[in-house]
Amino acid sequence: MSNSAVANLVSTLDTTRILDQASRARSRAVALGQIAAGLATPARRTRTAVTRARLDSSTRRLLRLRGASDARPSEDRPRPGGDPHLVLRGKLRAGNLRRDACRHVIISRGRGLTCDGCDEAIATGHVELRARFGDGSTKRFHSRCFSAWYTETQR
Ligand SMILES: [Zn+2]
Repeated sequence: MSNSAVANLVSTLDTTRILDQASRARSRAVALGQIAAGLATPARRTRTAVTRARLDSSTRRLLRLRGASDARPSEDRPRPGGDPHLVLRGKLRAGNLRRDACRHVIISRGRGLTCDGCDEAIATGHVELRARFGDGSTKRFHSRCFSAWYTETQR
């Protein structure tokens, strides 16, 4: 196509309308960009909240309790000092650990306090479970000790 032919073609087009459409498309793109930028922050916040909720969820804690794949391996590893469940069962047999129904279970991070089941400290990296009884008092357990105590006394 020769230059003059192109010039003729362009002159037949409604250049005003084309320029107007291009301008509208540009401002629409800018508006969409602003919307996308506005959505990025809440999306990031939602992702953070979902992650936090997942970490805090009782299902995940129960998975840890039950020794599923999610469990902290060190907590369920047998100790050289002997089976902590033996200590717990001995206490139950001797009547030194209550076996009445617990009303609530409070789950928190370990604070280095002694487990009422095995008499070992509940490390800060581990989960601490407190069984609360009708009289308001509580017993503190490692998750593994709570599982053993619960199985022996609450079923
Ligand atoms: Zn324990």
